[in-house]
Amino acid sequence: MADTLSPELFRRLVERCTNGVLILDAEGVILYANPASESLFGRTADGLVGSEFGLAGAGAGTTELRLPNPKGGTPLSVAARAIKLDGPSTGWEPGAWALVLHDLTEHKREENRLQLYEAIFLGVSEAVLVTRTDGTIIDLNPAFSRITGYSRDEVLGQTPTILKSGRQGPDFYRSMWAVLQEKGHWKGEMWNRRKNGEIYPELLEINALTNEVGQVDRYVALFSDITHVKQTEEQIEKLLHYDALTELPNRLLFRSRLEAALNEPKHGATAVALVGVDRFNIINGTLGMETGDQILRLVAERLSGYLDEDETLARMGGDEFGVLFRGDRAALRAVGFAEAIQENLSEPFNVSGAEVLVGCSLGISVSSHHGSHGISEMLREADVAMHRVKADGGVGYQLFTQDLDLAIRDSVLLAGRLGQAITQNELRLLYQPKVSVHDGRVTGMEALVRWQHPDEGMLSPARFIPVAETSGLIDDLGRWVLVHACQQAKQWLDAGLDFERVAVNMAPAQVRKEDLAEFVQQTLHETGLPADRLELEVTENTLMTLAQEEQSVLQSLRELGVSLALDDFGTGYSSLTYLRRLPAETIKIDKSFVDDISSDDEQMAGAEIVTSIALLGQKLGFRVVAEGVETAEQVAFLRHCHCCDEIQGYFFSRPVQPEAIPALLQHPFSLPDLTDSAPR
Ligand code: C2E
Ligand code: MG
Ligand code: MG
Repeated sequence: MADTLSPELFRRLVERCTNGVLILDAEGVILYANPASESLFGRTADGLVGSEFGLAGAGAGTTELRLPNPKGGTPLSVAARAIKLDGPSTGWEPGAWALVLHDLTEHKREENRLQLYEAIFLGVSEAVLVTRTDGTIIDLNPAFSRITGYSRDEVLGQTPTILKSGRQGPDFYRSMWAVLQEKGHWKGEMWNRRKNGEIYPELLEINALTNEVGQVDRYVALFSDITHVKQTEEQIEKLLHYDALTELPNRLLFRSRLEAALNEPKHGATAVALVGVDRFNIINGTLGMETGDQILRLVAERLSGYLDEDETLARMGGDEFGVLFRGDRAALRAVGFAEAIQENLSEPFNVSGAEVLVGCSLGISVSSHHGSHGISEMLREADVAMHRVKADGGVGYQLFTQDLDLAIRDSVLLAGRLGQAITQNELRLLYQPKVSVHDGRVTGMEALVRWQHPDEGMLSPARFIPVAETSGLIDDLGRWVLVHACQQAKQWLDAGLDFERVAVNMAPAQVRKEDLAEFVQQTLHETGLPADRLELEVTENTLMTLAQEEQSVLQSLRELGVSLALDDFGTGYSSLTYLRRLPAETIKIDKSFVDDISSDDEQMAGAEIVTSIALLGQKLGFRVVAEGVETAEQVAFLRHCHCCDEIQGYFFSRPVQPEAIPALLQHPFSLPDLTDSAPR
């Protein structure tokens, strides 16, 4: 070595060396200090030369020294390697030492840092899990075991799938991996499963770690159990959006669901029903608040019993509940609900040993799909409607209808109630006599149905028959009418009263039923009314809508012995040949033609139409009845032209209660002549 390394080259190497190099004499006095040692001692090389370093730990080998740091006083760690320089080749005197000083400060610091990290790793409350890129678990901390229940040995070598709860679908993991691969980290909440099977929510953060060459080779997952956070969140959510007493959604949540419904781009109608418990303050005052609370809970229970899953029942506050209906049937659902609730609440509640009757007032508002209703508007409208019911004494419901088509309103309301009307005997039959033009005697009467509506009074068939036809209730209604008219007629016969027939109107849907003849026969049988005492009225328009095969029912009815009348005749466009084929015996000339008969000469042209229709009918062999006859002139005219057989109309009698019929049957009407226009 000495042969190849010149002292000059050696010196230059030592000078550039980043470690400190000192040469000491045999006594430990510094003979030489290289530039790197200047910063270790904080002194110049010249200043160092000649000062005593000492021969601590002399002997060739490594030892650790602490040099006092001249800057901050922090001792530097210096690893020194002493080399005994012997022999002439080095140029140093025999017995000298070379000291190579290596600064360990950074190393020490690193060591401390690792110690700290380890303490953190072991002591933190967050679980730490380290895996390879294939998912194999290579490290974990005690918190991991604490949270998951798995010991270190149980999970090392496994993959995190042992924690899977099944609560997240494959899409969740797929998108998690995508983010992790793209960004190198992922953070979120997920549900995992502990060793004991329990599922818990965790807040998880995953970071990718790269190796020296920048490749991802590990993942570090950090997570904490956030069960308590979730519970608090849930509690807060509950407090915010639910009512503590009934556990129903509160006004706030109701409003936001209503808003969502109204904002849905293709929503059908939306209906809101507000339900107020009538006189709740009296219940509270007399039975006590506790009973009051209990009743509210029971009411909530009964109300929810009528709702579908997608319908929201909420406690709006105090004694008020709200229901949200959505979709095309929203309005009908709301009305149906109101009906059912009225019925249901007629059953008393059993609270604290007492039976308590509770009534409800409902207000309904409806927004159609093209409506521009806002939340507040809908709630206000329902509120107005509800308070109208309360003002009327409570119990019942109202529909707020400012914006609704009147026809829709009517049919929605009536359809909701009609089924019940039939079963609860709210229908009535009035009878209007038919009077013979020859002698003024009552030959028969037409049964005309009425609905004694509990809120709206006597309803005319013009209002509810069309509703019954569209809602499918016409069949039930028609049967009810037939049965009751037959029973009534039989009673009159049994009472010895004399008349030819009772007439019953038939809706198109009834005539189309295959079993109509069968049902009529059965009804006649059950009521004991002879078939020839019954006349069925079918309008000309109904007949014209019947298909060929549907007309056979008329023939079957004829064969039973029942007679048929063609109602509202002249309003359709039946051809003569068509009329000839009909098994009907009677035609009833529509009121609109009779109306044309007046004393006014100009109008008499109209009367000619009635006459020709009537004469035509008679020629074809029909018995002719004029309907809607209101004046003496009309009667006189009809008698004079000898074109009709019977007259029905207000001139003789309006439709009357059945009790009034016997007297009418017993006393013939006097008939006005052309010269004499006074009624009897
Ligand atoms: P319709 O069968 O043509 O009955 C005659 C209607 O004219 C009755 O009205 C009657 O009260 C009315 N009317 C009779 N005379 C006069 C008059 O002089 N002046 C005026 N202004 N009106 C008169 P209502 O009872 O309101 O019945 C209307 C329609 O409802 C009936 O017309 C019939 O088509 C239908 N209808 C009534 N009851 C039933 C029923 O039980 N079943 C079916 N399917 N329809 C019925
Ligand atoms: Mg009729
Ligand atoms: Mg008619």
